[in-house]
Parts: sequence; C-alpha cells; structure tokens
Amino acid sequence: MRIYENELIAPYTTINLGGRARFFCICNNEDELKKSIEFAKGNNYSFKVISGGSNVVFPDDGYNGLIIQLSGEKISVIEDNDLYKIVEVWAGTKLDDFIKWSIENSLSGVECLSGIPGSIGATPIQNVGAYGQQIGEVIKSVIAYDVNNNSYINFNNDECKFGYRTSIFKKNYKNNLIITKIIIELSKRDIDNYSYKDLKEEIEKCNGYDNFNRKEKLNFIRNTIYKIRKRKSMIYDKSDPDSISCGSFFLNPHLNESEFKKFYKLAKEKNLDPPYLKDNSGYKISAAYLIENSGFHKGYIKNGAGISKKHSLALVNYGCDTKTLLKLAEEIRINVKNNFGITLDIEPDIINM
Ligand SMILES: Cc1cc2nc3c(=O)[nH]c(=O)nc-3n(C[C@H](O)[C@H](O)[C@H](O)COP(=O)(O)OP(=O)(O)OC[C@H]3O[C@@H](n4cnc5c(N)ncnc54)[C@H](O)[C@@H]3O)c2cc1C
Repeated sequence: MRIYENELIAPYTTINLGGRARFFCICNNEDELKKSIEFAKGNNYSFKVISGGSNVVFPDDGYNGLIIQLSGEKISVIEDNDLYKIVEVWAGTKLDDFIKWSIENSLSGVECLSGIPGSIGATPIQNVGAYGQQIGEVIKSVIAYDVNNNSYINFNNDECKFGYRTSIFKKNYKNNLIITKIIIELSKRDIDNYSYKDLKEEIEKCNGYDNFNRKEKLNFIRNTIYKIRKRKSMIYDKSDPDSISCGSFFLNPHLNESEFKKFYKLAKEKNLDPPYLKDNSGYKISAAYLIENSGFHKGYIKNGAGISKKHSLALVNYGCDTKTLLKLAEEIRINVKNNFGITLDIEPDIINM
C-alpha cells in the first residue's frame, strides 16, 4: 500500500470537486486498511474513508489528513440452499459489479439498484435504494471496524435501523466506524413483484418477458433500469456533463400531520396542488416539485454550478468549485423554505475541515 502526498481529491469523486489531500492511499483489504489507520493515528492525522466518491463533496482547500479509498473486490458464498444464497462482500467491492455477479448467478434482490455508482461498503450508510428496492431489505448484517476501540462490531439488520436514505451509521457513527464487510441474502425465489411504475410499464411492453428464464428476466430488469437511468443522466459517465453530480443532492421531505397541514395551506395559497404520498410514518413530499416551484428549473446554471437538465434533484458541476456549488444549494434551500416552510436536507456528505 502506497501513501501519496498532496493528491488531488476531485478526480476520486463523481462531482469532480475538492482540493488536495495531504495524504491519500488505496486499500484493497483489511490488512491495508489497518496499516493506513495506524499511519494516521501514529502521526496524529485525521482520516476519512471514501470509496466510489459518489456521495461526498470535499472543500476547495482539500483535506488536511489521510484519505483512505477502499477498493478491490471479494465476494464469498457462506451459505447456499434451494431458497437463497448468503454472501459476504468486502466493502471495497463496486456495488454494480456485485449486482452483475448476482444476476450471473440467477440471484435476485439487488437488480433494481443497477447503475448506482460506489461501493457496497457505503450502501448501508444511507440505505441505498432505487426503483422499489433498498439494500437494507437484503442485508443480514454489517461488520464495521470501530476506529476508537480497534475492534470489530457486528450489526444485525435490526440494529442497522434502516430507514429512507438513513441508518444508524449515518446518524450515530459517522466517522467512528469503517464498514468492512456486508452479509447479504440473495434470493432464488419467484421474482416479478416489481412495483415501480416505469419498470412495470417496460415489463408489460416486453412481449417475450413471461417466457424468459430467471436469469433473462433479471438481465432484462438490469438493462431496463440502465436505460431509464441513462435518460435521466443518473448513470455516472465522464462524457455526460449532466452526470457530474452526487446523484440526488436533496432528500424528499417527510412531514408529520401538523407540518403537512401548514405546508399544504401555503401551497394552496399559491394555487398549487403538490403531489404527496401518505404512509404510516406521515407524508412524503417531492423535493423536485418544491424546487421547481421555488424559482428553479432543470438546466438552471449559475457560475458553473447548476441543476441537471434531466433531473431537478441533481446539482451538477458544469465547471465550478465547491464553494459555488454549495452556494447554489443554499440558495435553493432558502427559496424552498421561504416558499413552503420546509427545510430541504442534503443527501451527500459535505466535508468541512
Ligand atoms: C449518478 C449518480 C446516481 C446515484 N443514484 C443513486 C440512487 O439511485 N440511490 C441512492 O441511494 N444513491 C444514489 N447515488 C448516491 C451514491 O452513489 C450512493 O450513496 C453510494 O452508496 C455512495 O457510495 P460511494 O462508495 O461512492 O461512497 P462515497 O461517496 O465514497 O462515501 C459516501 C459517504 O460514506 C462514507 N463511507 C464510504 N465507504 C465507507 C465505509 N466502508 N465505511 C464507513 N463509511 C464509508 C464516506 O466517508 C462518506 O461519508 C447516486 C450517485 C450518483 C453520482
């Protein structure tokens, strides 16, 4: 494992932002990870783990410490029967490579997450989800290295406290724990319970789908999701300027009854009829709707920071620095707050040093 000095961070992130890291290293396994932590601790440097860099924004003046990028790939089957396979996956493994492996083995449970950039190790943090699946639904347990006590902790699914784009790792343990392995149960049972509208429509349009075998169906789902994502520039591709982002920058707000009533009244006063989804936990509001009705639109650009032409939740680096991008994010939040009384929460990890 080599430790680089003064490495530019931006190229290691999908939004291509961030100055230089004082130290930077790539760890492909637990031994290398431990050595890198020893190096940082031994010299009193702060350290930060990243992987795909697809949900993180570093400051323009960089990071005065060690950035540890987890990489490499390891998938081991630890249980196999007629109904499911349980696998242990090294945190540095790319999520999309893992999904490809699952489908090659005719296993379901993660196919709808196809095309999401980043590593499997980061997925529990915000309970990565898309097109009706969330990683928390298939995780049996998460193994994490506690950097304060130099020991490993095993969290079972309940202990992870998965919710909409959140978990205990985001709420309670940020920067104290490094996720090293995830235990996942992939299914051999029936599929076909895809609920997401765009996906269902594509399945209905596909004549031969019912006669496909399991692997063909899973591949069809994966390819269809790739197509839908590509249309929205939600596949990270350096040659697609609208994908130079962190994906969604804002979370969809969840309101309780009284918050919802206030919000709805404000919206009605503006002659608006906002869409919402009511469930047991309250009301889910579309952040995209709030943004589009607060003076912003897809393709809005200011000083090189903008809103994707294809997706109003994605802030894009069209040629800006971190300060400018965060200024735009703040402007959007202020306008939404003034218009609807709602404070939008930011999804990516914004690093302050
Ligand atoms: C084009 C695009 C589309 C996207 N679409 C989606 C989507 O549909 N759904 C969705 O949920 N997300 C989406 N994302 C967001 C992002 O891909 C996910 O959050 C992903 O899980 C981040 O993984 P990463 O390896 O890139 O994490 P990084 O960006 O490297 O890190 C993100 C955070 O996790 C921490 N972290 C990373 N690895 C570890 C570890 N092993 N242990 C402890 N902490 C760690 C970092 O310190 C940082 O705080 C999208 C992003 C992009 C750019």
